[in-house]
Amino acid sequence: MIVLTTKSEITRYIQQKRIKSAFKIGFVPTMGALHEGHLSLIKLSKQENDRTICSIFINPIQFNQTSDFEKYPKNFEKDIKLLEQNGCDILFLPSVKEMYPTKSTITFDFGELEKIMEGVHRPNHFNGVGVVVSKLFNIIQPTRAYFGQKDLQQCAIVTQLINDLSFPIEIRRCPIIREENGLAMSSRNQRLSVEQKEQATFLYKSLLQTKLLLEQTKSVEKTLIQVKNEFKEMPFFKLEYLEIVDAISLQSLGNIEEGQEIAICIAVYIGEIRLIDNLIFVG
Ligand code: AMP
Repeated sequence: MIVLTTKSEITRYIQQKRIKSAFKIGFVPTMGALHEGHLSLIKLSKQENDRTICSIFINPIQFNQTSDFEKYPKNFEKDIKLLEQNGCDILFLPSVKEMYPTKSTITFDFGELEKIMEGVHRPNHFNGVGVVVSKLFNIIQPTRAYFGQKDLQQCAIVTQLINDLSFPIEIRRCPIIREENGLAMSSRNQRLSVEQKEQATFLYKSLLQTKLLLEQTKSVEKTLIQVKNEFKEMPFFKLEYLEIVDAISLQSLGNIEEGQEIAICIAVYIGEIRLIDNLIFVG
């Protein structure tokens, strides 16, 4: 695997490859502290493209809390080993200065998509995502880009970005990889204590229970009231949101229709660590 840290190096590499043949490039953007979830994206990209490029960049402008940015887990040596073992071809590992030689002043308006869930609770987060993803798309010019369903709203935002700015890139939404106990893998899980990790398994259980209740009651309102009440009995959780939404538009549902693709989305705090998860199914 080749590790490149500057825009000019990666541009040179891609131009050389493209002169030779119509190379298909798969791109997996990450913030590092890699786990099986990230590696599943690499695997899919390898199956579908001639070369796979992964980026590791902890994007300061998408964090709305300085402490979350400062405490974000970092383990570049381990990440490089994992990427090598999993057959990644290129790692793009830029510095903040390389990505932001000057302060970014551009602002995106993602409309309704920004007025719900993560958009409400993490002001400016999606603007930061929009800026960094646009920069990375322009630098790497991939054929396909791989994003995890784990960050469902991010997938929707990036799809909108691709449509709005006509990036000639195909987005691939990849399934959530979970621990055996159901906990969705996340770099932030590293910050949980053993006890908190055990408590966090309730997150996925509550998604399954919400689905079951929804199927039984056919009522979004009743389901949400019941599950939210159960969270009140769990002192270790602070429920930030629980939403039942259309899986494509991500807008809240009043009632469910047969055959409709539904997403149940949740965000909680355990101590000071924020976790998100979701479940998609056909109603
Ligand atoms: P991050 O490093 O957290 O920015 O994540 C990089 C990419 O990996 C994003 O597209 C995430 O949605 C995806 N990802 C993170 N966790 C998982 C998981 N458990 N399963 C599948 N994809 C994931």
